[in-house]
Amino acid sequence: MVARSRAEISGARRVVVKVGSSSITGANEHQLDSVVDALASLREHGSDVVLVSSGAIATGFPALGLTEKPTDLPTQQASASIGQTLLISRYQASLDRFGVRASQVLLTAGDFDDLTHRRNAQRAFDRLLEFGVIPIVNENDTVATHEIRFGDNDRLAALVAVLVRADVLILLSDVDALYTAPPERPGATRIASVAHNDQLEGIEFGPATETGVGTGGATTKVASARLAADAGVPVLMTATSRVGEALAGAELGTWFEPFAPKLPTRTGAITTVGNLAHQ
Ligand code: GLU
Repeated sequence: MVARSRAEISGARRVVVKVGSSSITGANEHQLDSVVDALASLREHGSDVVLVSSGAIATGFPALGLTEKPTDLPTQQASASIGQTLLISRYQASLDRFGVRASQVLLTAGDFDDLTHRRNAQRAFDRLLEFGVIPIVNENDTVATHEIRFGDNDRLAALVAVLVRADVLILLSDVDALYTAPPERPGATRIASVAHNDQLEGIEFGPATETGVGTGGATTKVASARLAADAGVPVLMTATSRVGEALAGAELGTWFEPFAPKLPTRTGAITTVGNLAHQ
């Protein structure tokens, strides 16, 4: 049953959470434990939980002896290759506090275009979740570089949410919500909810520049939220520092209403059915 509001997140059957590089590495490394606390609590209450986490490059480059995030692709990929194992180890060490297993799933956007790959991934996710595991997904950075270049895994998270038929997708970043203008600008106000098909006209997003260790920005987040919402998965966008409150259903962040097709019932009445991702 797709979550109809923030209040239904805590009881959702299946939740996908996405966290960005800058939220869990470097000065914010301590937030990794808070993310895990919130995920473990959701799982203890019976929800299936999938985490999409960036942070491989940010975790890997210091291990290569580099002092700054590399800018060339092969060194970014080398950093990701090293950082990915360290990142999963950190998550596992944190999940050990709850006796929960992490698994690693590396995907590329191309995998979603290939029916066999998509079905295989879907079956693997379903089985992992049956075992009570928390799959941790990242882009397979050695062979694909879309998220390195454009999106800090926002798009990947939306594709995963649709693939696993999630009841809600939570996009976590450094910003607590979508605003009517760049949040630092005076007069910018929080957008609490975005109706499906609302084109957000007149809303000015900041440029999708690369800041610190992460990439992406409001534009890629909104595009990804739309991708999920168009396929019937509602999305909550908020800050990683508020993950506990967000997963407990607090009235924060920006909520994207999903597409809900109106179909005639057998009696001829028009009703709103669940969502496409669940069919
Ligand atoms: N897959 C990349 C990583 O985990 C995400 C891209 C980025 O953070 O810039 O590092």
